[in-house]
Amino acid sequence: MPAYVRPITFDPKSYVVQCCLMIAQDLLESLVCPECKKALAYRQNPESLKCGQCHRAYAVKDDIPIMLVDEAKVES
Ligand SMILES: [Zn+2]
Repeated sequence: MPAYVRPITFDPKSYVVQCCLMIAQDLLESLVCPECKKALAYRQNPESLKCGQCHRAYAVKDDIPIMLVDEAKVES
């Protein structure tokens, strides 16, 4: 089990759901812009992560953020 899986309480019925939610939250909160190391803001439609510093938007494909400066779109 990866180190970032940290269930708050052990309840067999909700264990899996809690793990998945926590992985998603941990991932999103720990993501920073690879260019300027600032926290990214999550957006939907289309799913993307926006950097407030350099205005790059990183696409999310199949729930996986594409954290590549070359792939990011710079928005005005
Ligand atoms: Zn940035």
